Amino acid sequence: DGAASPFSRLVLALAAAASGGIVAYAGSKFDNTAEQTQVAQKKKMVVLGTGWAGTAFLKNLDYSLYDVKVISPRNYFTFTPLLPSVTCGTVEPRSIVEPIRKIIGKNKLLFNWFFILLSQKGEEIDYWEADCYKINTVGKKVLCRSKIGTNLDGTGEFVVDYDYLVIAVGAQVNTFNTPGVMEHCHFLKEIEDARRIRRSVIDCFEKASLPYLDEEERKKNLHFVIVGGGPTGVEFAAELHDFVAEDLTKLYPAIQDLVKISVIQSGEHILTMFDQRIAEFAEAKFQRDGIDVRTGYRVVKISDNSITMKCKSTGETSEPYGMAVWSAGVGTRPVIVDVMKQIGQENRRVLTTDEWLRVCGCDGIYAIGDCATISQRKVMEDISAIFKFADKDNSGTLTVKEIQDIFEDLCIRYPQLELYLKSKHMSDIADLIRDAKGGDVEKGSMQLDIDELKIALAHVDSQVKSLPATAQVAAQQGQYLAQCFNSMRDCEEHPTGPLRLRDSGRHRFRPFQYKHFGQFAPLGGEQAAAELPGDWISIGHGSQWLWYSVYASKQVSWRTRVLVISDWLRRFIFGRDTSCI
Ligand code: FAD
Repeated sequence: DGAASPFSRLVLALAAAASGGIVAYAGSKFDNTAEQTQVAQKKKMVVLGTGWAGTAFLKNLDYSLYDVKVISPRNYFTFTPLLPSVTCGTVEPRSIVEPIRKIIGKNKLLFNWFFILLSQKGEEIDYWEADCYKINTVGKKVLCRSKIGTNLDGTGEFVVDYDYLVIAVGAQVNTFNTPGVMEHCHFLKEIEDARRIRRSVIDCFEKASLPYLDEEERKKNLHFVIVGGGPTGVEFAAELHDFVAEDLTKLYPAIQDLVKISVIQSGEHILTMFDQRIAEFAEAKFQRDGIDVRTGYRVVKISDNSITMKCKSTGETSEPYGMAVWSAGVGTRPVIVDVMKQIGQENRRVLTTDEWLRVCGCDGIYAIGDCATISQRKVMEDISAIFKFADKDNSGTLTVKEIQDIFEDLCIRYPQLELYLKSKHMSDIADLIRDAKGGDVEKGSMQLDIDELKIALAHVDSQVKSLPATAQVAAQQGQYLAQCFNSMRDCEEHPTGPLRLRDSGRHRFRPFQYKHFGQFAPLGGEQAAAELPGDWISIGHGSQWLWYSVYASKQVSWRTRVLVISDWLRRFIFGRDTSCI
């Protein structure tokens, strides 16, 4: 009847391995009917995006359970943390990308017979290179457009139905409607952007060497401006400085003194999402390196040869520049803006999900990574239930112990809250409540009624920021959601579930909980700053070696790992390549 028993699978698999694939073909024919029936029964799942969130989801999903279609305009995954290294040739572009077909078909390619036998991970899933330009949340359809080929009506458009939709389309650059940014600035979001910057840096040096330019023109060509003092802007500035100091000054000795690198930041400090000590160290190091860090300046206009900025104290100034890189913020993709309009979230910045990453107000839609944020309003909405649950003796007030229990529970449900509490070093929750009450309460005797708890939670809620838009968050969300989908069938088959899931919870799974493993800021000159869990800060050469080890280990495949390490070695031995290809 076509249903293969584990034993017949074992025989076929071993035979396939022994015969180099001839029997495997017979085996796949043998399995076909069963597979087709299964596909017909499987729920249709569409995954949009092949970035950090989408790839982590696909790597962890059991494909045998769903009929999966992956749609993304990029047929590869990019290891974005190394994009700044690509801009200066420290790492080659191909070393940090991995074809998505290899990632989703990896188990099949490597261990075909083994996985057919054990986990059915060898199942096919479809990938289509296209953009999703509209999501019909009511009709459960995604409308897509491919740029690489047209269909019979000449448009390249097609429609895909879904039962489950996983949106992982990330974010796009945000110019804040600043005039001239789109036309004259480079961005650093995609591998192609990094390639363009690399060519442009060398072009600036070649232009500045032309015989017919005067000194002012040479200086203008060698003025590199980075708008935005976040991790990307700072890392690029550090890379560029090293490239100039270690490689380009040897090749362009006549113009080496004319080079200027400026970082323009609207806030008071650079690297504001890092510990203050790291921000201060970075600013001092950049000053020593001759990188001009201008804090408190906002860029208001960019023309083809000058950049205009405003500062509260000095007013408006314009400066000539040779190359500008805009890394001042991320914005929402049009397809997400459209979904937000459809479901009444138009006043939000990105799609809002609940703690199980389900898009609020939709059926069967999940959103992960930079295009989504977890709702914090639930804390306030649930307040009566929280209070009733915690007030065990029905006294109408909560004791310190009960308040602590509430916060522990909330930290599990709302990862942002935990991050906030950690960032404030609040080991004792009672301190926090005392803060909210104006600090005039004795710790031991403190009690709160429901209105006071509301005030305390509102105070905390107003302080709590969304989870950061990082690869770390995106990858953890992708992995978590895949695990939920993998166990969904089990839950449907055993609705009463294990005891811990039978409670009155609103969902069958634990809510998503973010684990922060720390963050790095490479600062150039073989020095990096590391902020690790437990409020541990490390700055200097040792942290740079930690950075090398972590980033090598985080590579998505052994191929990219080997390529990245060999690029680092090549750079140590021969320096960076300065040809403009
Ligand atoms: P992305 O990784 O951007 O992936 C989005 C995917 O969706 C892409 O495949 C894209 O092609 C696809 N897509 C876009 N539009 C559509 C559409 N309409 N239809 C279908 N598919 C679509 N984070 C860290 O944690 N550490 C770092 O050191 C770090 N360094 C960074 C350095 C740089 C230069 C940059 C740009 C980012 C860095 N980040 C870092 C942030 C990190 O890259 C992002 O947070 C992460 O990429 C978010 O993952 P994502 O899957 O949500 O989006």
